[in-house]
Amino acid sequence: MLPDSTDLLESLPTHAAVLDAAGLVMAANASCLELLREIDAGEVLGRPFFRYCDKLLAASAATAVRDGLASVLSGTAPRYEMDLPCGRPQNPTWRALCATPLHGRHAGALVILADISRQKQLEEHILHDAFHDTLTGLFNRALFLNRLDQSIKRLKRNPEALYAVLYLDMDRFKLVNKTFGHVTGDRLLMIIANRLQKLLREADTLARFGGDEFAILVDDVTGISEASAMADTVLRQLAAPFRLKKQEIFVTCSIGVVLGSAAYEHPDQVLRDADNAMYSSKEHGGDHYTLFDAGLRVVTQRRMEMEMALRQALEHGEITVHYQPIVSLSTGVITGVEALARWRHPSQGLITPNEFIPIAEETGLINELGALVLRQACRRMVDLGNANPDAAKLTLSVNISGRQFKRPDFVEEVAAIMAETDIDPSRVRLELTESVLMDNADEAVETIKRLKALRVKVVIDDFGTGYSSLSYIQRFPFDSLKVDRSFVGNMNEAEQNMEIVRTIIAMAHKLGLEVVAEGVELNAHREALIDLHCESAQGFYFSRPNPGEELDEQVRRGWGRPTPPDAA
Ligand code: C2E
Ligand code: CA
Ligand code: CA
Repeated sequence: MLPDSTDLLESLPTHAAVLDAAGLVMAANASCLELLREIDAGEVLGRPFFRYCDKLLAASAATAVRDGLASVLSGTAPRYEMDLPCGRPQNPTWRALCATPLHGRHAGALVILADISRQKQLEEHILHDAFHDTLTGLFNRALFLNRLDQSIKRLKRNPEALYAVLYLDMDRFKLVNKTFGHVTGDRLLMIIANRLQKLLREADTLARFGGDEFAILVDDVTGISEASAMADTVLRQLAAPFRLKKQEIFVTCSIGVVLGSAAYEHPDQVLRDADNAMYSSKEHGGDHYTLFDAGLRVVTQRRMEMEMALRQALEHGEITVHYQPIVSLSTGVITGVEALARWRHPSQGLITPNEFIPIAEETGLINELGALVLRQACRRMVDLGNANPDAAKLTLSVNISGRQFKRPDFVEEVAAIMAETDIDPSRVRLELTESVLMDNADEAVETIKRLKALRVKVVIDDFGTGYSSLSYIQRFPFDSLKVDRSFVGNMNEAEQNMEIVRTIIAMAHKLGLEVVAEGVELNAHREALIDLHCESAQGFYFSRPNPGEELDEQVRRGWGRPTPPDAA
């Protein structure tokens, strides 16, 4: 025998009610009665069900539920579903309403209200995480882009609805992490977030983009002066010391400011300009804001064109290598060469590295370019040695940029190029500048050791232009040191420069490092360096950097001569 309908309702694990064709509650299980009484006290049976929905929902949503229920009751829809926020507004408990038609003698609908609070909580959590930064609780980049997109569209509709973006990057924050540890670094970021938050109005959007980068979207600014004032306030607020772990920490930041304009179509364009303006603040030494203006736009445009052209140059084989001889000062014989990158531009002719290396570094193209130079130079040296046994021992110096050096697979790449070109690795000298050593000394030492395990030599380049002392350099297992050409070039004019070169050479020798002097332009430089017991030299006095073909010729002509062949 079938159970009667009340028993059936009672045994359902959710709140359940039966409505008649007019939508009145005809029957309900105990838990449903309780729920409905909570929503609205009084007799449940005989009442229109949608009244309860009216109580819970905003007018438009309530109308939607009414229409949905009506379509089920009239039999035009097989099912209707809707999530209802029950409970208190501050602490809603969610119920999924599902109505299905009942046919037969008593036409109407069966309504079920299942508890989905946990599922809703989870959904909200996921949604929150998708748009917030976990460390600071601020909005993240995704949400910022979203808001910025709205501002861009609003400005297109209404030219008065001006907005500004402030792009912030903390200065030397890596040093904070290094000195105080990451935990303190993270705490500091939280406090910074807090300080920034306090500067904002309700409508402004503050986001953390990750690391030590933040962005502020200010809606409804009156113009450039208001945006500048805002940037000024940010700088001043951050200038006050942060007290952490009983210490005072000072932090400054670099800001790029962009004022919205109808020319912006996409958030990425705004952020790119803000980033470039911020970058310009960094170049001013930080603790500074820069407004993005037409001048910067031209610079940015040029940089972008250059980047594109460089990319193509790499593809089309326009990057080539020139070689400058390095000469033994005691014998006057060429002992090696330095490989120097050149861009053979189809219309602009030869472009020097000072113009394109910085762009290659900024864009990451330096990795490809650096590998290309190393590979090309190794090949040439091996060929040269095969053709002329005297040249088989020439050393090859190649410049390595910081970005390249810090790549996790840098050592593997060098090893692969050594193997591929079949060069004797002990002929290869990789030249690093001091900047490479400043960020993470321990890691740099490790990488240098791994390079030396390949039998490659490692040189400290441009010595004297950075900040490091020779005692700092001592930590790194270099084989030789290059005295920067700025000292060598002025050696004979200023006694002070002569002293600097003398000191560097003497101290380098005490550390067991060979010394190469760059920028030797005069015979007087050569003689002075011989007096100072400097081992080798390179410079226009001996030879300018030349294409590979000329190096072949140079080696053939000048090889073994006690006096420099190109002395002018
Ligand atoms: P650097 O490593 O200091 O290279 C020596 C520079 O001094 C070269 O400039 C060379 O032409 C120039 N030079 C040589 N002798 C003299 C001289 O007697 N007087 C003067 N005034 N200058 C002299 P270049 O070829 O223009 O290269 C400039 C810089 O570009 C290099 O400085 C190096 O830092 C960078 N570079 C060049 N090729 C590469 C490369 O393949 N990779 C990387 N990462 N950097 C490179
Ligand atoms: Ca060099
Ligand atoms: Ca140099």
